[in-house]
Amino acid sequence: MTERSFPDDVDVVIVGSGPTGAAYARILSERAPDAVVAMFEVGPTVSDPPGAHVKNIEDPARRAAAQHASQGPAASAETVSNPGAVKSGQRLARAGTFLLEEGYQQPGEDGLPVAAMSSNVGGMAAHWTAACPRPGGSERIAFLPDLDELLDEAERLLGVTTHAFDGSPFGDLVRDRLARAVDEGRIDATRVQRMPLAVHRRGDGRLVWSGSDVVLGEATRANANFTLHDESLVTRVLLEDGQASGVEVRDLRSGGTHIVRARFVVAAGDALRTPQLLWASGIRPPALGRYLNDQAQIVFAVRLRDVPPLDTDVPADGTLAEYSGVSWVPFTDDVPFHGQVMQLDASPVPLAVDDPVQPGSIVGLGLFCAKDLRRDDRVAFDDVATDAYGMPAIRIHYRLTDTDQAVLARGREEIVRMGTAVGDPLDPRPFTMPLGASLHYQGTTRMGGADDGESVCDPDSQVWAVPGLFVAGNGVIPTATACNPTLTSVALAVRGARRIAAELGRAVTASPGLAYVEKEL
Ligand SMILES: Cc1cc2nc3c(=O)[nH]c(=O)nc-3n(C[C@H](O)[C@H](O)[C@H](O)COP(=O)(O)OP(=O)(O)OC[C@H]3O[C@@H](n4cnc5c(N)ncnc54)[C@H](O)[C@@H]3O)c2cc1C
Repeated sequence: MTERSFPDDVDVVIVGSGPTGAAYARILSERAPDAVVAMFEVGPTVSDPPGAHVKNIEDPARRAAAQHASQGPAASAETVSNPGAVKSGQRLARAGTFLLEEGYQQPGEDGLPVAAMSSNVGGMAAHWTAACPRPGGSERIAFLPDLDELLDEAERLLGVTTHAFDGSPFGDLVRDRLARAVDEGRIDATRVQRMPLAVHRRGDGRLVWSGSDVVLGEATRANANFTLHDESLVTRVLLEDGQASGVEVRDLRSGGTHIVRARFVVAAGDALRTPQLLWASGIRPPALGRYLNDQAQIVFAVRLRDVPPLDTDVPADGTLAEYSGVSWVPFTDDVPFHGQVMQLDASPVPLAVDDPVQPGSIVGLGLFCAKDLRRDDRVAFDDVATDAYGMPAIRIHYRLTDTDQAVLARGREEIVRMGTAVGDPLDPRPFTMPLGASLHYQGTTRMGGADDGESVCDPDSQVWAVPGLFVAGNGVIPTATACNPTLTSVALAVRGARRIAAELGRAVTASPGLAYVEKEL
């Protein structure tokens, strides 16, 4: 097999091509276009442009092939594809993702039985639902004064809009009914509203879901100093005098190993595999892998009551029709759930079959719960056993506390109240998904305001005591969020990327109308 050529020496290595790794590439392309940036991704390229969402692939067979190719060692495994499978209690992954083969639950613990990952260019964002709510209340990171500006920038990179489903005939009706059930006592920002989505509409009217391709943008694709290497596993971050100095990469096509020198390394490999890479590299700060948190998820499906028949047919070409769109019931500290209310075919969880008589009348509700954070909830790594890629095997230690159980019980009541306000339940009992189903794992490389052993990185995402090594992804989020975390983790990546651009001393104009002049350090 022909050896590919990998660079020997670059300014910045980015490990992982999900939206947070892509955010580093984009900001560096905009602010430091002379910097040589190499991105390494263990999975294959499954869509065009690289990193594009697979839902945008119109041909169902090609879309399914892209999903299988993203499933790493479980390419041929069965995935959740029908409503029965959701509630069957089987350990099944969502299409495009794969589960931990072992180590997901320790004896006597709850574990995360369906903790999942994706291995493909674009990471999980080639498969996601694209909901991009902003964090509120205790979800926010109090020591970041610039959080709102960073979230604005993350919305720009992901292409977030609240208008994707403006034409949906049942959207306002669903929101009005929900509002009557939950809005009392809420301020404007936390009232029922349209869900911000990373979606845009093409000229022909078809919805296009943002993936890493949108985050990379033309600025990165046109950057001759940026290269993306797929099927390339970063096995170690290299250190010299305590500073990041490069990475060791294994070419999965040839099996060859390469050393790539770099001034900066950004580990953006997801909340389980970023700490795995640091562990494998002997970089083991006390908080590494700790404060792991997932958003326990409850789902419920209803049939809309008293709605007029639609005169549109279900599209035959796989295009998403517009029925009720996606609505948002924001988290508050008093009501600690994030609510996502979706027309059936936009939901990542197949909750029911569509109603052949009244298409679009079934609405799926999901509540995500914020976790009661514990230091002992953690991802740990085996010193001997390895995973399918030959990296240290993942061991999840995870328990729900009494507080978590109480929040879940309250959530089950709340979702029934919300659901029955909207329509008639298909099943009177809400379903609590197996732990890990949210796909929103956080905290394992958490950010902190001080190096006190309770965090892994500083507010710029640079690992404490390892200059030049940055971490990215949901693992960096230090708070217990209930809202979908990607917008927040992309916002944190923007801050880190700006820091690297500033240190590279080559900052340029960031976006039209906003001239950033960085000081040369
Ligand atoms: C069905 C589904 C629905 C979702 N819906 C939403 C939603 O509505 N809103 C939301 O906010 N989030 C959602 N998510 C989660 C969202 O996709 C993730 O939060 C987001 O993709 C995380 O971005 P990331 O860059 O941190 O990591 P990822 O997207 O996971 O990308 C990490 C990449 O790093 C690669 N990698 C790991 N280790 C290495 C290594 N050692 N060497 C080389 N490469 C490596 C992986 O292969 C992967 O491609 C959903 C996910 C799924 C699957």
